[in-house]
Amino acid sequence: MIRIPTGQLGEDGYTVEGEEPADWLDLDHDPVARPDGPVRYELTATPAGPELVVTGWVEAPLKLLCGRCAQFFSTTVRVSAFLHSYEWNEHPDFLDVSGDVREDILLEIPGYPLCKADCKGLCPRCGRNLNQGACGCPPPGAGPSAWSALDALDPAGRDK
Ligand SMILES: [Zn+2]
Ligand SMILES: [Zn+2]
Repeated sequence: MIRIPTGQLGEDGYTVEGEEPADWLDLDHDPVARPDGPVRYELTATPAGPELVVTGWVEAPLKLLCGRCAQFFSTTVRVSAFLHSYEWNEHPDFLDVSGDVREDILLEIPGYPLCKADCKGLCPRCGRNLNQGACGCPPPGAGPSAWSALDALDPAGRDK
């Protein structure tokens, strides 16, 4: 839980920094993202009239599922400009920003993650990961079509 002790807040604001355990993100049911280390943060609450403005950064090491080759790869999702404001009088002792931090991290996870920009993906024929080398399949368009391959399996089939 990331809590800012608003009861101790002076005019200069208050900074909290630290780590939350990896499972804090609660990604158990996320098909493309897994936690890969503690979530780090440094957040400062600054009074602005009746409001508290919280700014700072958050980093979450994650493993994401590549949309092309279907392998998990390690990356760090960073929220570099966390910015939320809260009513001070609704949080006289503590302000818990866990929910907003978690939400901002989830928003930073790309919708179509790629392990690298030029990921070669999987062979549509044999399923081999082409990043690990070429497979024996003919390049797309050069080989026999699916129909002629079926003909070859059953030579008597289509002329009847
Ligand atoms: Zn990939
Ligand atoms: Zn192949």
